[in-house]
Amino acid sequence: MRIVFIGPPGAGKGTQAVRLSEHLGVPHLSTGELLREACRLKTAIGVQASEYMESGRLVPDDVVNQLVFQRVAEPDCGDGYVMDGFPRTVPQAEVFDDFLSLKGTPLNVAIEFRVREQDLRDRLASRGRHDDVVEVVQFRLSEYDAVTTPLLNYYQGRGILRTINGIGTLEEVSERIHSVIHAITGRRV
Ligand code: AMP
Repeated sequence: MRIVFIGPPGAGKGTQAVRLSEHLGVPHLSTGELLREACRLKTAIGVQASEYMESGRLVPDDVVNQLVFQRVAEPDCGDGYVMDGFPRTVPQAEVFDDFLSLKGTPLNVAIEFRVREQDLRDRLASRGRHDDVVEVVQFRLSEYDAVTTPLLNYYQGRGILRTINGIGTLEEVSERIHSVIHAITGRRV
């Protein structure tokens, strides 16, 4: 199954993406992690991405697209993947759809994690990562609203958007995700 997770920073989608990918036996692809790795290794993509990431801004589409297209073409993605953090914008989603339809492997579902903004602030404040400082958090939350919310309409229009409540225990949220997949495929996961 080819699944994308959409949700604001701090919504818990990274943790759930890892759990689901292990459960389904497909890779977990996080663009944040792929980009951080590229920065560490100082690859051409990493060098281009680092200044954007440090200030919490989105890395330009062509840089991220390149990274994702290379990654999903690798053999371990043949049975699908759980994509976390991409697409983040409508243009990314459009280009990704074109790329996938050329390969004959369209997305099966886009799962939106819905969490109240105050809960997000609390979660991010307790995470304490370098890109989680207050100003950067604020910027990323407003950017999510401005840039990513239209993405939800886009996937809604494509008929593959499903929204779940992101608040709850790990097990509760996982169970909601499994129900979504069950409803789509008819398969219990
Ligand atoms: P994340 O770990 O998903 O929160 O991503 C960390 C940072 O990587 C973000 O703040 C962006 O600078 C960058 N990033 C990750 N995914 C994308 C994407 N799809 N488009 C643009 N920038 C991204």
